[in-house]
Amino acid sequence: MKTDLKQLSKAELTGFMEHSGQPPYRVNQIIKWIYKKTAASFDKMTDLSKDFREELKAIAVISNLSLLQRQVSEDGTQKFLFELKDGETIESVLMPNSKGRERFTLCISSQAGCATGCKFCMTGRLGLKRNLKASEIVDQVITVKRHIETWVHGPEASITNIVFMGMGEPLNNFNEVVRSLRNITGLMGFSKRRITVSTAGIVPGIRKLAYTGPDVNLAVSLNAATDRIRDEIMPVNKKYPLNKLIKACKEFPLSPNRRITFEYVMLGGINDSTADADRLVKLLSGIKSKVNLIPYNPLHKSIEFNPPLENKILRFQKTLRKAGLTVIIRKSKGSDISAACGQLKASYS
Ligand code: SF4
Repeated sequence: MKTDLKQLSKAELTGFMEHSGQPPYRVNQIIKWIYKKTAASFDKMTDLSKDFREELKAIAVISNLSLLQRQVSEDGTQKFLFELKDGETIESVLMPNSKGRERFTLCISSQAGCATGCKFCMTGRLGLKRNLKASEIVDQVITVKRHIETWVHGPEASITNIVFMGMGEPLNNFNEVVRSLRNITGLMGFSKRRITVSTAGIVPGIRKLAYTGPDVNLAVSLNAATDRIRDEIMPVNKKYPLNKLIKACKEFPLSPNRRITFEYVMLGGINDSTADADRLVKLLSGIKSKVNLIPYNPLHKSIEFNPPLENKILRFQKTLRKAGLTVIIRKSKGSDISAACGQLKASYS
């Protein structure tokens, strides 16, 4: 079987080149072509001799995702539907950071489908199809980078932040996610400070990321301040209840100026009361945190949650602020193309 070069770390790529009788400088040439120039094939690598390119073609592949569809929202958010080699599909979402500037945050998927089953999420309804390989995760970044730099916005445009908040629970695909993180940071040169891995609360994964993973930002999709409510909307809470989750967050090592982001999808009449806000304040006490309040997006008629009332959102925010927490109300982006939080794969299933 041919070797997928995007699956390899720098050390492995070095070994691979050595084994093929190539001088060490070839490694950096290949890395530059794959990760900086986003070459989609060996034929694009024009400073490699034709013979060497032919040799590579015989033993290795440059993986690529096939783009099935790109949708653009009224607010500039773009959603990419990719097909994997085995026919599974995944989505990535590109969000402009601020109007008129060509800086983007890219939200990527770590699994095709998801087994975690959060009740407010369309991806959770699909169940898990399979874990993504590191190369399939990296390829989302490379393909979208190529898209914005070459096809649409010109060389000045760039992805400034990457969030693992697309389809799947990243910490349930720990090894491939970490491998992809090492390549995105080490080989592509993306700053660890600008990458966030978001989890529904897989406690052993949080601990493993703390001690063996690269030093990226952690986000926790919390969404409730009591086990009763969290059990109802996030089945993962039965396995990793709030006391265990909060303990792991308290013990998560944070370098100066870093904080854990707690995502809180506000569901009308379920978790949006002032009493919920008070409980949340208590729960997060002692954690360097920031809270993102995400008013629920109506997804699909089969999911029966209501969006929160505007005055409840503001009251909730005020309660957290009064207690000294940093709180942002995140307006959903791309809801008209089902690209908003919890909507991925909503329109294909
Ligand atoms: S919110 Fe995330 S973890 Fe939960 S079901 Fe959806 S994709 Fe999975």
